[in-house]
Amino acid sequence: MSSLEHFAAAKLRSLAERALKRELSDSVRGVDAMVERKGRRLVSFACNDYLNLATHPLIIDAAVAAARRYGVGAGASRAVTGNHPLYGELEARLATLKGSAAAVVFGSGYLANTGIIPALMSTGDVIFVDELSHACTWSGCDLSGAKVVPFAHNDMHSLAEALRRERGLHRHAMICSECVFSMDGDRAPLGDIVRLADAHDAWTLTDDAHGLGVVPTDPDGAAVPLQMGTLSKAAGGYGGYLCASADVVALVRNRARSYVYTTGLPPATVAGAIAALDFMRANPAHCALPLIKARRFTLAAGLPAAASPIVPVIIGDAAATLEESQRLLDAGYLVAAIRPPTVPRGTARLRLAFSAAHRDEDVDRLAALIRGRANP
Ligand SMILES: *Cc1c(COP(=O)(O)O)cnc(C)c1O
Repeated sequence: MSSLEHFAAAKLRSLAERALKRELSDSVRGVDAMVERKGRRLVSFACNDYLNLATHPLIIDAAVAAARRYGVGAGASRAVTGNHPLYGELEARLATLKGSAAAVVFGSGYLANTGIIPALMSTGDVIFVDELSHACTWSGCDLSGAKVVPFAHNDMHSLAEALRRERGLHRHAMICSECVFSMDGDRAPLGDIVRLADAHDAWTLTDDAHGLGVVPTDPDGAAVPLQMGTLSKAAGGYGGYLCASADVVALVRNRARSYVYTTGLPPATVAGAIAALDFMRANPAHCALPLIKARRFTLAAGLPAAASPIVPVIIGDAAATLEESQRLLDAGYLVAAIRPPTVPRGTARLRLAFSAAHRDEDVDRLAALIRGRANP
């Protein structure tokens, strides 16, 4: 056996022994939160398509029309010839939505954070990061060369202490947090973060991947100078964005490697995102449904009231979490088992994502199945 094959086999064995090996299952998503897997039709509580826009006829029609008009691919980086006219329309809508002067769209949320952070921060700077931030934030921090200082999740004493200790030793400072945390569903105290940032001349970057379209806009969010997010969740498609001042956006367009050195999004994807944002603006009652369903669930399951459409049910042990998710699968419900390193060790969990299309009877049945299973 070659050393490469030996290395791969040993690593895989070690992951499997710790119940951390990931396997893929073909999933065919239908309308109304249904997913077909291995010949079974399941109700999915495992999709981030909170508004069910990925399969919405209006969004599909917009994407198809754009593919016919502009083709299926952008053909080059946006900086060369990939900047088809739909991009400007999408960026204008995002800027309006977030109350910023400008916006820039990336290939994905992951690409956005790995491009934005190193475009603004480098050696000699410091980045304060909520410890539960998404993997792409940590990757962006690593790529920047700045010193990375984690602070305790949503803990303003921990952040203030870190700022007092480290801020003076560095040139520029950034604070990274999330509007809605992806694996916990709780929200950051944006007002407090912005006040601390102002007091210490630090630049706040918030990740709104899970808030856009489904969580009431935090009025303090408008004071955040760097508002990033994704079009891959509630908007139903794909893509990432940053909303910021005109100069910051122009600088990011020049310096972010994940923007300059990658092909633009396909026109259909950009058209789908435009249609999704227009849908959100026109249908506030539909946008309120995921949170209403999540709250119905937490009430019935005896859990703390949901702050977003994401509800974690912490089990602790990775193998036990897989068993719980299998038990729900047997009952017809697809619920993600989230294990380390996605979440800290000992906090493996079921992660439920509620969508506008979930039926109340399914929400209630799922709550009855889960009630009492969380490990406090
Ligand atoms: C999903 C997610 C991302 C990545 O977005 P993609 O568009 O899927 O690449 C970034 N940040 C957070 C918090 C996320 O949950």
